[in-house]
Amino acid sequence: RATRGGEEVRGYVPSMGQIFLRRFQLVTQFRQALEDGQVSVHYQPKVSLPDKNVVGVEALVRWVHPEFGRVNPDEFVPAVEATGLVGALTSFVLDQALDRVRRWLDEGLEMSVAVNLSVRSLADEDFAEQVADALARHGVPARLLTFEITESAVMADPQRALPILGELHDLGIELAVDDFGTGYSSLAYLRRLPVDQVKIDKSFVFGMSTDLGDLAVVRSIVELGHSLGLSVVAEGVEDDSSRDQLEAMGCDVAQGYLISRPLAEDRLEAWLLARTA
Ligand code: C2E
Ligand code: CA
Ligand code: CA
Ligand code: CA
Repeated sequence: RATRGGEEVRGYVPSMGQIFLRRFQLVTQFRQALEDGQVSVHYQPKVSLPDKNVVGVEALVRWVHPEFGRVNPDEFVPAVEATGLVGALTSFVLDQALDRVRRWLDEGLEMSVAVNLSVRSLADEDFAEQVADALARHGVPARLLTFEITESAVMADPQRALPILGELHDLGIELAVDDFGTGYSSLAYLRRLPVDQVKIDKSFVFGMSTDLGDLAVVRSIVELGHSLGLSVVAEGVEDDSSRDQLEAMGCDVAQGYLISRPLAEDRLEAWLLARTA
Protein backbone atom coordinates (compact mmCIF):
# COMPACT_ATOMS: atom_id res chain seq x y z
CA ARG A 1 0.00 0.00 0.00
CA ALA A 2 2.96 2.30 -0.47
CA THR A 3 2.36 5.17 -2.83
CA ARG A 4 4.72 6.25 -5.55
CA GLY A 5 7.92 7.95 -4.49
CA GLY A 6 8.15 5.93 -1.29
CA GLU A 7 5.69 8.19 0.50
CA GLU A 8 4.39 6.54 3.64
CA VAL A 9 0.68 5.85 3.97
CA ARG A 10 -1.04 5.50 7.33
CA GLY A 11 -0.96 1.92 8.48
CA TYR A 12 1.83 1.11 6.05
CA VAL A 13 4.80 -0.53 7.69
CA PRO A 14 8.08 -0.39 5.77
CA SER A 15 9.83 -3.70 5.29
CA MET A 16 13.31 -4.44 6.64
CA GLY A 17 14.59 -4.09 3.08
CA GLN A 18 13.12 -0.61 2.78
CA ILE A 19 14.53 0.47 6.13
CA PHE A 20 17.91 -0.85 5.12
CA LEU A 21 17.73 0.90 1.75
CA ARG A 22 16.81 4.23 3.32
CA ARG A 23 19.61 3.91 5.85
CA PHE A 24 22.02 3.10 3.03
CA GLN A 25 20.86 6.17 1.10
CA LEU A 26 21.23 8.40 4.16
CA VAL A 27 24.78 7.23 4.77
CA THR A 28 25.91 7.47 1.15
CA GLN A 29 24.30 10.91 0.68
CA PHE A 30 25.43 12.51 3.92
CA ARG A 31 28.68 14.06 2.75
CA GLN A 32 26.99 15.60 -0.29
CA ALA A 33 24.18 16.82 1.95
CA LEU A 34 26.73 18.68 4.09
CA GLU A 35 28.16 20.33 0.98
CA ASP A 36 24.73 21.16 -0.44
CA GLY A 37 23.57 22.95 2.69
CA GLN A 38 20.86 20.40 3.56
CA VAL A 39 22.35 20.01 7.04
CA SER A 40 22.13 22.77 9.63
CA VAL A 41 22.40 23.29 13.36
CA HIS A 42 19.57 24.31 15.64
CA TYR A 43 20.12 25.56 19.18
CA GLN A 44 18.11 24.84 22.31
CA PRO A 45 18.51 27.27 25.22
CA LYS A 46 19.38 26.13 28.76
CA VAL A 47 18.36 28.29 31.71
CA SER A 48 19.65 28.39 35.26
CA LEU A 49 16.89 27.47 37.66
CA PRO A 50 16.87 29.98 40.44
CA ASP A 51 17.36 33.12 38.34
CA LYS A 52 16.27 31.88 34.89
CA ASN A 53 19.28 33.33 33.11
CA VAL A 54 20.16 31.77 29.77
CA VAL A 55 23.40 29.95 30.51
CA GLY A 56 24.01 28.43 27.11
CA VAL A 57 22.59 26.45 24.25
CA GLU A 58 22.82 22.89 22.98
CA ALA A 59 23.67 22.45 19.30
CA LEU A 60 21.41 19.87 17.62
CA VAL A 61 21.93 18.82 14.03
CA ARG A 62 19.09 18.98 11.46
CA TRP A 63 18.87 17.44 7.98
CA VAL A 64 16.25 18.39 5.40
CA HIS A 65 16.60 15.71 2.74
CA PRO A 66 15.37 16.55 -0.80
CA GLU A 67 13.35 13.32 -1.03
CA PHE A 68 12.60 12.29 2.57
CA GLY A 69 12.06 15.76 3.99
CA ARG A 70 13.08 16.31 7.59
CA VAL A 71 15.09 13.36 8.84
CA ASN A 72 15.29 12.90 12.59
CA PRO A 73 18.83 12.87 14.06
CA ASP A 74 17.82 9.79 16.06
CA GLU A 75 17.68 8.06 12.66
CA PHE A 76 20.61 9.47 10.71
CA VAL A 77 23.16 10.10 13.48
CA PRO A 78 23.40 6.39 14.40
CA ALA A 79 23.65 5.53 10.68
CA VAL A 80 26.42 8.08 10.18
CA GLU A 81 28.13 6.95 13.39
CA ALA A 82 28.45 3.46 11.99
CA THR A 83 30.61 4.82 9.16
CA GLY A 84 33.78 6.85 8.88
CA LEU A 85 31.67 9.98 8.35
CA VAL A 86 31.08 10.86 11.94
CA GLY A 87 34.21 13.02 12.01
CA ALA A 88 32.67 15.14 9.24
CA LEU A 89 29.44 15.48 11.25
CA THR A 90 31.21 16.46 14.46
CA SER A 91 33.50 18.97 12.79
CA PHE A 92 30.58 20.51 10.90
CA VAL A 93 28.54 20.99 14.07
CA LEU A 94 31.55 22.15 16.08
CA ASP A 95 32.48 24.69 13.42
CA GLN A 96 28.96 26.12 13.24
CA ALA A 97 28.66 26.20 17.03
CA LEU A 98 32.00 27.94 17.58
CA ASP A 99 31.23 30.45 14.84
CA ARG A 100 27.95 31.23 16.65
CA VAL A 101 29.75 31.70 19.98
CA ARG A 102 32.37 33.91 18.33
CA ARG A 103 29.71 36.22 16.88
CA TRP A 104 28.03 36.43 20.29
CA LEU A 105 31.38 37.39 21.83
CA ASP A 106 31.74 40.11 19.21
CA GLU A 107 28.36 41.46 20.38
CA GLY A 108 29.56 41.40 23.99
CA LEU A 109 27.62 38.27 24.95
CA GLU A 110 29.31 35.35 26.73
CA MET A 111 27.29 32.27 25.93
CA SER A 112 28.42 28.69 26.05
CA VAL A 113 27.53 26.01 23.53
CA ALA A 114 27.20 22.27 24.06
CA VAL A 115 28.02 19.85 21.24
CA ASN A 116 27.04 16.17 21.28
CA LEU A 117 29.90 13.75 20.79
CA SER A 118 29.59 10.33 19.26
CA VAL A 119 31.41 7.25 20.51
CA ARG A 120 33.52 7.30 17.39
CA SER A 121 35.06 10.67 18.22
CA LEU A 122 36.29 9.20 21.47
CA ALA A 123 38.24 6.60 19.53
CA ASP A 124 40.10 9.21 17.45
CA GLU A 125 43.48 9.83 19.09
CA ASP A 126 43.86 13.25 17.45
CA PHE A 127 40.45 14.43 18.54
CA ALA A 128 41.57 16.79 21.34
CA GLU A 129 44.13 18.36 19.01
CA GLN A 130 41.48 18.94 16.33
CA VAL A 131 39.25 20.60 18.92
CA ALA A 132 42.08 22.80 20.20
CA ASP A 133 42.71 23.90 16.59
CA ALA A 134 39.04 24.69 16.06
CA LEU A 135 38.89 26.77 19.25
CA ALA A 136 42.00 28.70 18.20
CA ARG A 137 40.72 29.22 14.65
CA HIS A 138 37.48 30.72 15.96
CA GLY A 139 39.09 32.56 18.86
CA VAL A 140 36.73 30.99 21.39
CA PRO A 141 37.89 30.26 24.96
CA ALA A 142 37.64 26.56 25.83
CA ARG A 143 35.42 27.25 28.85
CA LEU A 144 32.60 28.31 26.51
CA LEU A 145 32.50 24.83 24.95
CA THR A 146 30.81 21.81 26.51
CA PHE A 147 30.83 18.30 25.10
CA GLU A 148 27.90 16.03 25.90
CA ILE A 149 28.78 12.34 25.91
CA THR A 150 26.58 9.43 26.81
CA GLU A 151 27.65 7.01 29.50
CA SER A 152 27.41 4.17 27.01
CA ALA A 153 29.79 5.98 24.64
CA VAL A 154 32.41 6.09 27.37
CA MET A 155 31.75 2.56 28.53
CA ALA A 156 32.03 1.18 24.99
CA ASP A 157 35.81 1.49 25.26
CA PRO A 158 36.88 3.25 28.46
CA GLN A 159 40.57 2.56 27.85
CA ARG A 160 40.46 4.70 24.73
CA ALA A 161 37.85 7.21 25.79
CA LEU A 162 39.27 8.18 29.18
CA PRO A 163 42.60 9.64 27.98
CA ILE A 164 40.79 11.66 25.27
CA LEU A 165 38.27 12.98 27.81
CA GLY A 166 41.19 13.89 30.07
CA GLU A 167 42.87 15.86 27.28
CA LEU A 168 39.65 17.71 26.45
CA HIS A 169 39.13 18.52 30.11
CA ASP A 170 42.72 19.75 30.43
CA LEU A 171 42.06 22.15 27.57
CA GLY A 172 39.38 23.71 29.81
CA ILE A 173 36.38 22.26 27.97
CA GLU A 174 33.39 21.31 30.12
CA LEU A 175 32.22 17.72 29.93
CA ALA A 176 28.67 16.54 30.55
CA VAL A 177 27.33 13.01 30.86
CA ASP A 178 24.22 12.92 28.66
CA ASP A 179 21.14 10.72 29.12
CA PHE A 180 22.22 10.01 32.68
CA GLY A 181 20.31 7.21 34.37
CA THR A 182 19.70 5.18 31.21
CA GLY A 183 23.03 3.35 31.02
CA TYR A 184 24.09 0.18 32.75
CA SER A 185 27.30 1.56 34.07
CA SER A 186 28.08 1.91 37.72
CA LEU A 187 27.88 5.12 39.65
CA ALA A 188 31.45 4.44 40.72
CA TYR A 189 32.52 5.19 37.16
CA LEU A 190 31.16 8.69 37.38
CA ARG A 191 33.83 9.48 39.96
CA ARG A 192 36.57 8.39 37.60
CA LEU A 193 35.34 10.46 34.67
CA PRO A 194 36.70 14.01 34.36
CA VAL A 195 33.19 15.46 34.07
CA ASP A 196 31.59 18.70 35.23
CA GLN A 197 27.89 18.08 34.60
CA VAL A 198 25.28 15.36 34.50
CA LYS A 199 22.19 15.65 32.35
CA ILE A 200 19.19 13.78 33.73
CA ASP A 201 17.61 11.85 30.88
CA LYS A 202 14.33 13.31 29.66
CA SER A 203 12.48 10.01 30.13
CA PHE A 204 12.65 10.53 33.93
CA VAL A 205 11.89 14.24 33.72
CA PHE A 206 8.75 13.63 31.59
CA GLY A 207 7.33 11.37 34.26
CA MET A 208 8.40 13.17 37.41
CA SER A 209 5.18 15.11 38.01
CA THR A 210 2.98 12.00 37.77
CA ASP A 211 5.20 9.04 38.66
CA LEU A 212 6.76 8.72 42.11
CA GLY A 213 9.40 6.33 40.78
CA ASP A 214 10.59 8.84 38.19
CA LEU A 215 10.51 11.57 40.80
CA ALA A 216 12.72 9.47 43.07
CA VAL A 217 15.21 8.84 40.25
CA VAL A 218 15.41 12.54 39.43
CA ARG A 219 15.88 13.43 43.08
CA SER A 220 18.65 10.91 43.59
CA ILE A 221 20.52 12.02 40.46
CA VAL A 222 20.41 15.63 41.70
CA GLU A 223 21.75 14.54 45.08
CA LEU A 224 24.39 12.25 43.62
CA GLY A 225 25.56 14.91 41.15
CA HIS A 226 25.85 17.52 43.87
CA SER A 227 27.63 15.19 46.26
CA LEU A 228 30.25 14.66 43.53
CA GLY A 229 30.53 18.42 42.99
CA LEU A 230 28.84 18.32 39.58
CA SER A 231 26.34 20.68 38.08
CA VAL A 232 23.00 18.99 37.32
CA VAL A 233 20.98 19.72 34.18
CA ALA A 234 17.45 18.41 33.54
CA GLU A 235 16.45 17.94 29.91
CA GLY A 236 12.90 17.43 28.64
CA VAL A 237 11.30 19.97 30.99
CA GLU A 238 7.84 20.37 29.47
CA ASP A 239 5.63 21.72 32.25
CA ASP A 240 5.63 24.22 35.09
CA SER A 241 5.20 21.65 37.83
CA SER A 242 8.32 19.70 36.80
CA ARG A 243 10.27 22.94 36.56
CA ASP A 244 9.11 24.00 40.04
CA GLN A 245 9.94 20.61 41.54
CA LEU A 246 13.40 20.65 39.93
CA GLU A 247 14.03 24.10 41.31
CA ALA A 248 12.92 23.00 44.79
CA MET A 249 15.33 20.04 44.62
CA GLY A 250 18.20 22.35 43.76
CA CYS A 251 18.69 21.19 40.17
CA ASP A 252 20.95 23.78 38.54
CA VAL A 253 19.85 24.07 34.92
CA ALA A 254 16.70 23.28 32.92
CA GLN A 255 16.26 22.60 29.22
CA GLY A 256 13.07 21.62 27.44
CA TYR A 257 10.06 22.65 25.42
CA LEU A 258 8.70 24.65 28.38
CA ILE A 259 11.63 27.03 27.94
CA SER A 260 12.08 26.65 24.19
CA ARG A 261 12.28 24.07 21.42
CA PRO A 262 15.53 23.87 19.47
CA LEU A 263 15.56 26.93 17.19
CA ALA A 264 17.19 27.87 13.90
CA GLU A 265 19.76 30.62 14.32
CA ASP A 266 17.56 33.55 13.32
CA ARG A 267 14.72 32.40 15.56
CA LEU A 268 17.12 31.92 18.46
CA GLU A 269 18.31 35.50 18.05
CA ALA A 270 14.71 36.72 18.19
CA TRP A 271 14.02 34.55 21.24
CA LEU A 272 17.08 35.89 23.07
CA LEU A 273 16.14 39.48 22.25
CA ALA A 274 12.58 38.98 23.49
CA ARG A 275 13.89 37.62 26.80
CA THR A 276 16.28 40.46 27.51
CA ALA A 277 13.83 43.15 26.36
P1 C2E B 1 20.07 14.34 23.03
O1 C2E B 1 21.50 14.77 22.97
O2 C2E B 1 19.61 13.64 24.24
O3 C2E B 1 19.24 15.67 22.75
C1 C2E B 1 18.04 15.99 23.35
C2 C2E B 1 16.86 15.68 22.45
O4 C2E B 1 15.66 15.93 23.18
C3 C2E B 1 16.79 16.57 21.21
O5 C2E B 1 16.23 15.79 20.16
C4 C2E B 1 15.81 17.66 21.66
O6 C2E B 1 15.17 18.30 20.59
C5 C2E B 1 14.85 16.84 22.48
N1 C2E B 1 14.16 17.64 23.50
C6 C2E B 1 14.63 18.69 24.20
N2 C2E B 1 13.70 19.14 25.07
C7 C2E B 1 12.61 18.36 24.91
C8 C2E B 1 11.31 18.34 25.53
O7 C2E B 1 10.99 19.13 26.40
N3 C2E B 1 10.45 17.36 25.10
C9 C2E B 1 10.78 16.47 24.14
N4 C2E B 1 9.86 15.57 23.76
N5 C2E B 1 12.00 16.46 23.53
C10 C2E B 1 12.91 17.39 23.92
P2 C2E B 1 16.85 15.79 18.69
O8 C2E B 1 17.31 17.17 18.32
O9 C2E B 1 15.88 15.09 17.82
O10 C2E B 1 18.16 14.89 18.85
C11 C2E B 1 18.07 13.53 19.14
C12 C2E B 1 19.42 12.95 19.45
O11 C2E B 1 20.26 12.95 18.29
C13 C2E B 1 20.19 13.72 20.50
O12 C2E B 1 19.73 13.37 21.79
C14 C2E B 1 21.60 13.25 20.23
O13 C2E B 1 21.82 11.98 20.81
C15 C2E B 1 21.59 13.10 18.72
N6 C2E B 1 22.19 14.31 18.10
C16 C2E B 1 21.61 15.49 17.78
N7 C2E B 1 22.51 16.35 17.24
C17 C2E B 1 23.70 15.69 17.25
C18 C2E B 1 25.04 16.04 16.83
O14 C2E B 1 25.33 17.14 16.36
N8 C2E B 1 26.01 15.07 16.99
C19 C2E B 1 25.74 13.84 17.54
N9 C2E B 1 26.76 12.96 17.67
N10 C2E B 1 24.51 13.51 17.94
C20 C2E B 1 23.50 14.40 17.81
CA1 CA C 1 22.68 16.02 24.31
CA1 CA D 1 20.02 13.71 26.39
CA1 CA E 1 19.49 10.83 23.52
